[in-house]
Amino acid sequence: MTRKLLSIDVGTTSTRAIIFNENGGIESICQNPIDLIYPQDGWVEQDPQALVEKTIDAVRKVLGQEENLSDVIAAGITNQRETTILWDKKTGEPVYNAIVWQDRRTAKYCATLKRANIEEMVQEKTGLLLDPYFSATKIKWILDNVEGARARAENGNLLFGTVDCYVLWHLTGGRVHATDVTNASRTMLYNIIGQNWDRDLLKLFDIPKEILPIVNDNIFDYGRIDADVFQGDIPIGGMAGDQQSALVGQGCVHPNMAKSTYGTGCFALVNIGSEVRYSKHKLLTTIGYKIGDDIAYAIEGSIFNAGTAIQFLRDNLGLFADAGESDAMARAVKDNGEVYFVPAFTGLGAPYWNPDARGVLTGITRDTSKEHIVRAALEAQGYQTRDLMDAMERDSGAQITTLRADGGLTSNDFMCQFLSDILDVAVEVPRVSEATAWGAAYLAGLQYGVFSSLGECAGKWSAQKTYHPKAQKTDMDTLYSKWKVAVEKTF
Ligand code: ADP
Repeated sequence: MTRKLLSIDVGTTSTRAIIFNENGGIESICQNPIDLIYPQDGWVEQDPQALVEKTIDAVRKVLGQEENLSDVIAAGITNQRETTILWDKKTGEPVYNAIVWQDRRTAKYCATLKRANIEEMVQEKTGLLLDPYFSATKIKWILDNVEGARARAENGNLLFGTVDCYVLWHLTGGRVHATDVTNASRTMLYNIIGQNWDRDLLKLFDIPKEILPIVNDNIFDYGRIDADVFQGDIPIGGMAGDQQSALVGQGCVHPNMAKSTYGTGCFALVNIGSEVRYSKHKLLTTIGYKIGDDIAYAIEGSIFNAGTAIQFLRDNLGLFADAGESDAMARAVKDNGEVYFVPAFTGLGAPYWNPDARGVLTGITRDTSKEHIVRAALEAQGYQTRDLMDAMERDSGAQITTLRADGGLTSNDFMCQFLSDILDVAVEVPRVSEATAWGAAYLAGLQYGVFSSLGECAGKWSAQKTYHPKAQKTDMDTLYSKWKVAVEKTF
């Protein structure tokens, strides 16, 4: 019998349903784009109902193509993290748009909290730094700014959830209000050591406990897809935030293994094992995964803008019609022509954490061509990763010798080779290109007996392509030092 797994991957720019076979091969896929709304500078929102409708549409389409539904053993969910939704417990209607992880509207409030010297306390409890990125201040903003929201929350009529939780609630016909440890660990309300919603933090951010979901392990019986969504009685057995899901999908289930995902943003995670360790270089500590007693923490570097740089060149500047063209354009010039592009559209994440920074394009001369600018945008992905890797190595004392890379941008050969050159490490792109979605499918398969252990997942992993450093290290160091100068200009 062929055993298949459904992965539901609700990303930032698109939502996907993918049916995998048990070797990670893609049997069918449906991808629906999702719109982002930019109401003002630094604000980023999405329509939660559209998010759910487009996800359910994708699920129906891929399952509808299945000749033998009983082959689909279980479903897993993975999602853009931190994005915050509050909705009515009875009707499911959101009280406000989803406030997307990239949104910086609470920057001033976070700065006030920093001045009050509470960042250390927050980091000890959550592994996170005080930044608008995480859900807590976004929840508070909705409760404080949407008329009637706080009263409704206190009366027990509203629910909060990140995207996993909101989608799960809808997939199960409003019966299940739950999240998983990895998503919970990004809210800035969850104590990653005690593994519970933290009372002090709820008090600090003035958030009523009643609105919070139950928190489960990454593999769990999360409920069944409701017959109104799809007549197929499919259990949901796994859930994880997208970056943690990719950590599993990339087989990084042993300490010191690192992956980096290049989608809308770029997120590098290194598995640090079962002991919590805090970063001294402005990276985050987060739960990598938890399956019963098996818990792995990870150190994470989060960059808010990666693929958005490519989208910006395509949509705002019209430099090309399709992202794929950027590869040949970058190769059409012999070097970057001293052009640097720091895509700090919504501030800078790790290791700078400056919500007020904005993007810069430097070094433009009369000879600068659009190819130089495209090349600068692709090179930026490498420089940003080097910023993270340097901090990770200083934190861990261990040298990362191989980086497993995935996400939309890794289909760009130029970008992958530059990444290997600037980091001076081997970059491996996996055979299963949809590593994020595969992670969630794998977790669901673990819950329902398709797989026996996480180690089995690591054993199945293989590289599609490996990039080795080809450039002179001194040349790369010179480029990187100029990048650092460009970054300064964003502040
Ligand atoms: P997400 O899951 O965050 O929605 P994806 O992993 O689907 O993102 O990646 C989409 C991003 O990758 C987009 O920003 C897109 O511009 C970029 N992208 C896709 N293909 C290429 C390519 N060949 N070269 C450069 N960028 C690309």
